[in-house]
Amino acid sequence: MATLSLEEATKRYGDGDEAVLAVDELDLEIEDGEFLVLVGPSGCGKSTTLRMVAGLETISDGQIALDDEVINTRTPQERDLAMVFQSYALYPHMTVRENMSFGLEESTDLSDDEIGDLVEDAAETLGITPLLDRKPGALSGGQQQRVALGRAIVRDPKVFLLDEPLANLDAKLRAEMRTELQQLQDELDTTTIYVTHDQTEAMTMSDRIAVLDGGVLQQVGTPMECYHEPANQFVAGFIGEPSMNFFDLENDGQRLRNDAFEYALQQEIASAIDGHSDVVLGIRPESAEIVDEPDGNADDGTIPGVVDVVEPHGNENAVHLHLGGDEDTELTVMIDGMRYLSAGQEVGVRFPPDAIHLFDATTGESLHNRNLESVETVEQIGTASTVHS
Ligand code: ADP
Repeated sequence: MATLSLEEATKRYGDGDEAVLAVDELDLEIEDGEFLVLVGPSGCGKSTTLRMVAGLETISDGQIALDDEVINTRTPQERDLAMVFQSYALYPHMTVRENMSFGLEESTDLSDDEIGDLVEDAAETLGITPLLDRKPGALSGGQQQRVALGRAIVRDPKVFLLDEPLANLDAKLRAEMRTELQQLQDELDTTTIYVTHDQTEAMTMSDRIAVLDGGVLQQVGTPMECYHEPANQFVAGFIGEPSMNFFDLENDGQRLRNDAFEYALQQEIASAIDGHSDVVLGIRPESAEIVDEPDGNADDGTIPGVVDVVEPHGNENAVHLHLGGDEDTELTVMIDGMRYLSAGQEVGVRFPPDAIHLFDATTGESLHNRNLESVETVEQIGTASTVHS
């Protein structure tokens, strides 16, 4: 059980013109038993952060503490953390049992019997008891992944550090392992940092998400907070699949305008963006509505659109359109799978005022987020798993 905190943790690689600021003054507190997912695009500093916590990378500035004890000067062995890598890093010449025992034999005074019991217990938790005498070469990717986890679990560390542990698995197995890992972490109640570039993993597995971009922390929040109340345009675009739609618009105080369409502002929203002449309007694909009004109607927020492509997903269809006769003003809308639209069809598109987000066009800062009053379980935001947008 442990609380891990990073205070202005910074990592610079190289000097002078060559220097890369991989992680920039990162402040993060991971609570006891919490499952925190560190997410962001490739190169944003996720692995570097994890490696700094693990002690595999020195930190250039700042501090890392475990239960209020500064650990960044300790060796990896002295930190009581266990890391699981994407590559699993199993020893091919050892059996599963030997792979799982090895770390304990090297770093503890436990007897062979005690180690044997710990390995059996971890194997049972992970459902890999029948595999204990096999070598890694005789295991599937999913089984190897479980062994790598088992090797971390037997050490009963204060913190698990998981670096894209599911990245090498096929999509179906990845989805299964997501659930398993989540259940396992619930059961063990061990503080966990999980690194991934996959926003679906971040949304589905975490207690809280920390979103990084260019080495800078963008937002820390529950999945629902990051989804519905993004701190900026980067988070809004990164979290959610398909991504939020964005439109660059000029704000005259009453309407938003670009070459393709106009959008009338409600008073409250106009006040929220007062003084920002260039804004970005964001709307999630499931929040935009397709209506039978092909000529549009600026006053009720309806814009003329033409369907370009319909992608059936089974339960729903992704409809790609362009708006206001402008091929470059593109929008994706998710509609019910039983509703049929075809390429070339002229439709109206409505952005319900309570569902729009607005960002400053220059800074990307969020100026107005969607209204959540209409959301059934809004008072549970942050804990609810069933908030409907
Ligand atoms: P992520 O895990 O989010 O993909 P990384 O933490 O691996 O990102 O990398 C963050 C940044 O630091 C990248 O720009 C990367 O090129 C740079 N970087 C990582 N490791 C090194 C290194 N050993 N030397 C120089 N630059 C590095």
